[in-house]
Amino acid sequence: MEFLSTRGKERVTGAQAIVKGLAEDGGLFVPARFPAVSAEELGSMLGMDYAERAALVLSKYLDEYDPNELLAALRAAYSRFEGGDAAPLVRVENGMYMLELFHGPTCAFKDMALTVLPYLLKKGCELTGVKEKVLVLVATSGDTGKAALEGFKNAGGVKIMTFYPDEGVSKMQKLQMCTTEGENVNVVAVNGNFDDCQTGVKKIFNSPECKAALKEKGYLLSSANSINFGRLAPQIAYYFSAYCDLVSSEQIQLGDKVDFAVPTGNFGNILAAYYAKQMGLPVGKLVCASNRNNVLTDFCKCGIYDCKRPFFKTMSPSMDILVSSNLERLIFELSGRDAALTAERMQALSAKGKYSVRAEELKTMQESFYAACAGENETVECIYEFFEEYGYPMDTHTGVAMYAAQQYVAEVEEDPDGEPHPMVVVSTASPYKFPQDVLYALTGNDVKDSFKGIKRINLLTAMKVPESLKEIRYKPLRFKKVISVKNMFHEVLEFLG
Ligand SMILES: *Cc1c(COP(=O)(O)O)cnc(C)c1O
Repeated sequence: MEFLSTRGKERVTGAQAIVKGLAEDGGLFVPARFPAVSAEELGSMLGMDYAERAALVLSKYLDEYDPNELLAALRAAYSRFEGGDAAPLVRVENGMYMLELFHGPTCAFKDMALTVLPYLLKKGCELTGVKEKVLVLVATSGDTGKAALEGFKNAGGVKIMTFYPDEGVSKMQKLQMCTTEGENVNVVAVNGNFDDCQTGVKKIFNSPECKAALKEKGYLLSSANSINFGRLAPQIAYYFSAYCDLVSSEQIQLGDKVDFAVPTGNFGNILAAYYAKQMGLPVGKLVCASNRNNVLTDFCKCGIYDCKRPFFKTMSPSMDILVSSNLERLIFELSGRDAALTAERMQALSAKGKYSVRAEELKTMQESFYAACAGENETVECIYEFFEEYGYPMDTHTGVAMYAAQQYVAEVEEDPDGEPHPMVVVSTASPYKFPQDVLYALTGNDVKDSFKGIKRINLLTAMKVPESLKEIRYKPLRFKKVISVKNMFHEVLEFLG
């Protein structure tokens, strides 16, 4: 299948899209069309395991990858997940389900794609005849960084470097990243917020001088951020898989619509759900959940994207984002795939921090999306009440999604024309990944030490503690450097030596 840039005429193969990460014109790569999954194919997925379902979805986009090899790579990636099922669906009450995406090596949903991306990238280099080594640059609000580091550590022909906002990630996230093993990894804190890190990385990507300097050292730049289609593709699969699990367990019949609530930051996860819908998955509404940084809520309500506003640090740091990169892919679809208009809007966004869409585009968006946001207190209360009622502990990001899902369900129930569907809340992190905030939500108690928090949550909930989080307690801190935004590229060059 061919891929196009959202901002211009560039056309590439899937392998090229993955190797390049970002188009030359600054746009994001999108598939030339959405491949369909027919009702029969969906039915045939019922009998498959997770890796097989994912292989079916991915091979529709990445047809130049050998399907057997792809399946083997997916099997290997998902065999690293604890508990046997990479994306289990848990029923908590009638009509309400949790899609648990946190059983991977770093306990957040980023593992669903980042355990697979190294294969997609390596094979992509082979398919496109790339001879250089690859430098993967990552800007992270906490979870992507660690998942990418784990995915790429010790991979041949690749170096990976992660930038995170010094004050903008949780203690556990920092500890996870800074204890990563492997000779080809580097982790650097930046004085600034996530948007500063992301802008810094994008600048390197868009600078011909930087690229030339890297080429001289024998490196090609690629991205593990969700702007890379190789991140997006594996995420589409779990929406299909969740749907199949609902049919298999006789919660719904094949063809019934299902709603999904997704805790949203960079708009990658929920965009994958939208892609699944475009491919034919019977999806009703997608609930776009934000924390106090509610740019997307306002956008979905009034059609104006305005990121000129205060930035809040919250207990759901992976959603503390004002510029959601992947929204560009949705804007492109809403505009009827008008690349010039998309480029114009993205120009306005970087120049003035603002753009708007037409009334009919907004209407199209609202047909698929509903948006709501949760403040800190609302999130805490939601986590507490849900645990009281169902004995199910959620992490802070998932708490935001649950709050938004409840808002949506309440509105549908009040609306005489409302269409209630089963609701799947996408659970993006283990509660143990944010132990202090989760313990506070569950008990009102503050603890300073993350591991004490883990122990208390375990006593309270009896939920199993992931092995990977237990281990890092005893690992040495390898990375301690804090730099300013303007020194990011300098740091890259130093790392490459
Ligand atoms: C990254 C992340 C999110 C946000 O996902 P996007 O794809 O950036 O919208 C939500 N929750 C957790 C735990 C995350 O790590």
